[in-house]
Amino acid sequence: MMDTLYLVIPCYNEEEVLPETSKQLLAKMQSLMAAEKVSEKSRIVFVNDGSKDRTWEIIQALHQENPIYQGVCLSRNRGHQNALLGGLMTVKNHCDMAISLDADLQDDIDAIDEMVDKYYAGNDVVYGVRNARKTDTFFKKFTAEGFYKVMKMMGADVVFNHADYRLMSRRALDGLESFKEVNMFLRGVVPMIGYKSDKVYYARKERFAGTSKYPLKKMLSFAWEGITSLSTKPIALITRLGTLIFLVSIIMLIYSFVRHCMGATITGWTSLIVSIWAIGGLQLLAIGVIGQYIGKVYLETKERPKFIIETYLSDEDADADKDKTQK
Ligand code: UDP
Ligand code: MG
Repeated sequence: MMDTLYLVIPCYNEEEVLPETSKQLLAKMQSLMAAEKVSEKSRIVFVNDGSKDRTWEIIQALHQENPIYQGVCLSRNRGHQNALLGGLMTVKNHCDMAISLDADLQDDIDAIDEMVDKYYAGNDVVYGVRNARKTDTFFKKFTAEGFYKVMKMMGADVVFNHADYRLMSRRALDGLESFKEVNMFLRGVVPMIGYKSDKVYYARKERFAGTSKYPLKKMLSFAWEGITSLSTKPIALITRLGTLIFLVSIIMLIYSFVRHCMGATITGWTSLIVSIWAIGGLQLLAIGVIGQYIGKVYLETKERPKFIIETYLSDEDADADKDKTQK
């Protein structure tokens, strides 16, 4: 029995790329079906993220033409992550596995075959990882790779060079659903679900039409969103800084005292300089401590699942049989 694959593609003002994208994805789907890797019930789902151009009209026309294409239209623009999540949650109960990918096909769709193979090999999550950024400009490469490094430093554990091109099994999607947070940063949350996972490497291509919907400004806010939604490490950094400054104040105390005894200071300087450092340090430390508690409250409000059970070996079946015989 072959499993059903759903491709989920968020689209925001993608009228220029959709005709070509849909054609290529259809060919890919047909080849997967012909190779008996996925079932005939597999679908290609476009999620219209409140586009202002003809994107939704195109999706509707595609659906008319061939029911393999499906469409989900969001009530307004909610951003890539939410559009993707909306799409995945809509199809979750119809598929065995779902692959999310961008409408511009910058992520090589030939990696899909390998993803599906890895799914059958028992992986619940397969990450698409870029092994080359030849076509990206130096600036994009620098900012994008810097993004992953800063994320890691700030305590947000993300898969290096993995964007949102990934396969997830149905139970991984169920796991994702149990994360109730409003600020959903998928790249950071998916590894938290757990289960067996693997990576597939591919070369990232150039956008063949249209423009990037992620200018630097959006990318920076995306990175900030990622860090603040995943970790409270920045607060811990404040505490550390406060401690450091307080320690400096003690050094300053000794230094100013020595200077004072040497008579090398004017009246009032010693007490002034020591209090500036000490108060500054203590204040920052206190803010950091309060911050730690707020950080805890913040994480509690996310109501993340404490655990997700993979298998439960029990004698439930035996009990069920017993019930049957008793009746
Ligand atoms: N996208 C979206 N909503 C937005 C912005 C982008 O659904 O508000 C989609 C977009 O249509 C594309 C994907 O997110 O399918 C990635 O965007 P893009 O290719 O512009 O980003 P880049 O590859 O330049 O990082
Ligand atoms: Mg792109």
